[in-house]
Amino acid sequence: MTVTLTRVDGSRERLSDEVLGEFDAALRGSLVPGGPAGEPEPRQEWNAMYGDRAALTARCTGTADVVEAVRFARSQGLLVGVRGGGHSVAGLSSIPDGLLIDLSAMRGVLVDPERRLARVQGGAVLGDVDRETQAFGLATPLGRVSETGVAGLTLGGGYGHLNTKYGLSCDNLVEAQVVCADGSVRTASETDDPDLFWAIRGGGGNFGVVTSFTFRLHPVGPVVGFAGALYPLEDLGAIERGWREYATGAPDEVTTLIVTMTFPAAPGMPEVIHDRPVAIVAAVHCGPDPDEGMRVLQPLRELGTPLFDLSQPMPYAAVQTSFDPFFPRGGLRAYWKSQYLDELTDDAIDALVGRALDRPAPLTLVNTFHLGGAVNAVDPEATAFAERTSPFMVSFDTMWTDPAQDEAAIAWGRSAWEEMTKYGNGRVFLNFTGRQDEPLQAGTDTAYGRNLRRLGRIKAALDPDNFFQLNNNIVPTPG
Ligand SMILES: Cc1cc2nc3c(=O)[nH]c(=O)nc-3n(C[C@H](O)[C@H](O)[C@H](O)COP(=O)(O)OP(=O)(O)OC[C@H]3O[C@@H](n4cnc5c(N)ncnc54)[C@H](O)[C@@H]3O)c2cc1C
Repeated sequence: MTVTLTRVDGSRERLSDEVLGEFDAALRGSLVPGGPAGEPEPRQEWNAMYGDRAALTARCTGTADVVEAVRFARSQGLLVGVRGGGHSVAGLSSIPDGLLIDLSAMRGVLVDPERRLARVQGGAVLGDVDRETQAFGLATPLGRVSETGVAGLTLGGGYGHLNTKYGLSCDNLVEAQVVCADGSVRTASETDDPDLFWAIRGGGGNFGVVTSFTFRLHPVGPVVGFAGALYPLEDLGAIERGWREYATGAPDEVTTLIVTMTFPAAPGMPEVIHDRPVAIVAAVHCGPDPDEGMRVLQPLRELGTPLFDLSQPMPYAAVQTSFDPFFPRGGLRAYWKSQYLDELTDDAIDALVGRALDRPAPLTLVNTFHLGGAVNAVDPEATAFAERTSPFMVSFDTMWTDPAQDEAAIAWGRSAWEEMTKYGNGRVFLNFTGRQDEPLQAGTDTAYGRNLRRLGRIKAALDPDNFFQLNNNIVPTPG
């Protein structure tokens, strides 16, 4: 095989057959060259704007393979990318000219029901974890689409349907195994390597390749209260005002959001919502009694006159896949941007309504998330994830399919975000950000606030050469 790769210093390196053969022999997994003749990626990048396969992929089967891949890349001075679930919106696990460390074969999940812990390999997706933990009536907070990677989601925080009761995904991490830039394998927890443990709870993939995560579990389901009321988009202003009042006073068992979209003409769904712009008021009540949960959620079904109402007691496992059809892998082009709000004012709602009615493509979403509860009970400096005060977050999930629309769609996403800065606090959620070539425009400084200095010091200690740089990058800053 002939493979030419980009080095960290920007130069190009043609690797000889002998060098590649030695690397291949050192792996239990396989080494796969890319290019037009290359096999398809085992787990392709979700965002179709970043669909080119890597020049060389190391398909790792375990921690030892990851160590080999890191050591090989260091010895050759190569630029690397790391892929867990491949759901980076900004294409941060896509590296057409470099070496991809691919963890998609590492999906094991082991549950210890007595200690209420789950050990999860670094390439698992959310559905892998929910499936195994629900077998014991347990769950840990994860995101809302089952194919999202546990790794990227957790390292960047992790919002989902259990947040207000049980916190972010990263708040439920009790231990992680990390392959660092020098090839060492570290176990990070509150007691072992506490700086590293602090940094990976929000600091992204900057500090190494996480090969396993151990999560705290909670009794959830198997059936939970679920609200999913689809209102006409024209009514969004009134719906969102009513939702704001409800969410602000709701018990922590209720995690809720509003999604606006044009509902596709899906089989099995009534015609009244086919290709219809709607505001979906969604919520989960994760308490032990689903009937009580439905009673608590009832006001969300009466914010106006729904076109259709999917609300019902629902298996938690079904809730966790209910948004999947709207986010197919590799079919959508995407540019997302988010912003936190200290207050969801009437003016902010009016601006959101204006944007929701003027989306550039049917699959573009304008979302409002309610936070608070256990998310905001954590001290902003207790983990690297610093945003612990805002009660609301808005995201503009610009999604379209036609490459000819790239420029206009991205411009729409940027301008919607700019407009929201009038009402928001300017802080962003780094897992919902922009493009590969502008990750810093998203603002690690605003996202991390006072935590950025400590992150820079830990980065300097563990990765002084910035070997792991394809991420929302934290610059090594000694001292
Ligand atoms: C359809 C969709 C739905 C989403 N829903 C939610 C949601 O409900 N809640 C939420 O909080 N976020 C959500 N996100 C955002 C998501 O959390 C981030 O995009 C996250 O980075 C995806 O993780 P991944 O492992 O799939 O991504 P990847 O593309 O594999 O990686 C993303 C980043 O993490 C690094 N990384 C990946 N694996 C590892 C590892 N094992 N060790 C170290 N670094 C690693 C990569 O190098 C890259 O920088 C969603 C994204 C999409 C596309």
